[in-house]
Amino acid sequence: MPDRDVLIIGAGFSGLYQLHKLRGLGFDAHIVEAGPQVGGTWYWNRYPGARCDIESIGYSYSFDPELQQEWNWTERYAAQPEILAYLEHVADRLDLRKDISFDTRVESLEFDDAEDTWTATTDSGETITAHYVVAATGCLSKPLTPSFDGIDDFAGDIYWTWDWPKGDVDFTGKRVAVVGTGSSGIQTITAIAPTVGSLTVFQRTPTYAVPAQNRLIAEELAELKTHYEDFRAESRLSVGGIPCGDELPPFFEDLDEGGIGKELQLRYDDGGLCFQQSFRDLLQSQEANDHAAEYVRDRIKEKVNDPAVAEKLTPRSYPIAAKRMCVDTGYYEVYNQPNVSLIDVNEQPIERITERGILAGDTEHEFDVIILATGFDAMTGALQAIDIRHGSQTLRDKWSDGPRTYLGLMSAGFPNLFTVTGPQSPSVLSNMVTSIEVHVEWISAALEYLREHGLTRIEPDVAAEDNWVNTTNDAADLTLLGQAPSWYMGANVPGKPRAALPFVGGVGTYQQILDGIAVTGYHGFELV
Ligand code: FAD
Repeated sequence: MPDRDVLIIGAGFSGLYQLHKLRGLGFDAHIVEAGPQVGGTWYWNRYPGARCDIESIGYSYSFDPELQQEWNWTERYAAQPEILAYLEHVADRLDLRKDISFDTRVESLEFDDAEDTWTATTDSGETITAHYVVAATGCLSKPLTPSFDGIDDFAGDIYWTWDWPKGDVDFTGKRVAVVGTGSSGIQTITAIAPTVGSLTVFQRTPTYAVPAQNRLIAEELAELKTHYEDFRAESRLSVGGIPCGDELPPFFEDLDEGGIGKELQLRYDDGGLCFQQSFRDLLQSQEANDHAAEYVRDRIKEKVNDPAVAEKLTPRSYPIAAKRMCVDTGYYEVYNQPNVSLIDVNEQPIERITERGILAGDTEHEFDVIILATGFDAMTGALQAIDIRHGSQTLRDKWSDGPRTYLGLMSAGFPNLFTVTGPQSPSVLSNMVTSIEVHVEWISAALEYLREHGLTRIEPDVAAEDNWVNTTNDAADLTLLGQAPSWYMGANVPGKPRAALPFVGGVGTYQQILDGIAVTGYHGFELV
């Protein structure tokens, strides 16, 4: 007998719900978590200004109506401490911690055909056996840590955004560098700009950022709570896992020139990522995309006083929304401060970190603090960090030309191993909590089905997997996604194969596909 029915790896949004759901169904489930506490993303990423870019009212669990009624989000976009407090509250309320081993990293997984069982080996050398494994390891949990030459020579302080120290870091009067202008970079920059002595930003690719229009939401939330279920139902059927007015027409159909500008302005002024759904075909039609991109470029020009700096901050080389958009709270205005400067590393590459600062091009810039916001090996990184084996096959070898999954849930040749928001599912293109709930519920129902039918093994057919891989690639090819050097395509990691990592068909469509597969007795899976 294995130690557990189900071993879950990771105690973020995914793992916590998976544990609760499986316990409720009578499975003996246990979590192994590398970190010292629950929270996942929201435990590790404690940098100043960290907050969600999906509205808190949607970026939260829907599975427990009482939890939903009792929890009060203060802001439209909650800050990291509040999201972490929420996940801690969930862990307490559902008494989850007793089934979690913290400070324990799974290093390898090996499948035993005779027993239909996985053996996990942890970093302490302990082994745990389980019939099923759910990898709730996170899409953005394997940080990219580029090894800048000279990094150990720096005499000041270096901080990584994904591993921020607990407690406050005082930047008052300090000369600070921030490397990276993705979401973590721009949130950090905006938060620390008021207190630093000087701030130098090293930018490789300018970002399209739209305003958050963050605000306190006590009254809105009270009103929403009278019909929260409708909002959640709409989220499940939506494109992005949160309602965004998905019924909008495509660019050319109904919107004349005046209408186009009005729609963009309405959404920009309203704030948030729904801007990228201004037209249904914004990610398919180059012309629609150009209109939306130009709208944001014009706003950057208005916000930044120095035209040369504004131009540097203006993205021109890739379509809007083809790289993760950012939601900002005064980011561009930071560059109007006299003590803030911007370095384009395409013009002045970072040669090395020195004892005193950063050598970029032929200039040494002196700093007291360097902050590195250099992103993640997205979607496949955390999974492939584990040595996953079945016989002579390893997942790393199988995915060496890009991930191959059926539905983003399983990979042929690796039975009884599920992934939550795995590659080729909507995941990072959506409100992740909605996508997490879709996956956790589907996996849990599949395990229940196996148990009810006296079965012990589930694995995708190779043909079904091939079809799904083709479907996700073809769907991505119909979009502009491939035009951006983004982590959606694996382009931010040297040597990583270029492939569309998320499924672009939307959460609602995807949920319907999953439902259909389950009601037909798990079409495309071999059950034994
Ligand atoms: P995670 O929260 O990443 O948790 C995975 C856990 O698995 C981690 O705690 C990790 O330590 C653990 N783990 C990994 N490998 C192992 C191993 N081998 N052994 C043991 N433990 C392991 N998404 C949105 O939809 N909206 C947002 O606004 C948003 N903001 C974000 C902001 C930041 C800064 C980042 C980094 C991500 C953001 N995301 C956002 C994506 C976010 O990751 C997901 O929304 C969500 O938190 C993922 O939950 P998870 O449980 O799947 O993964």
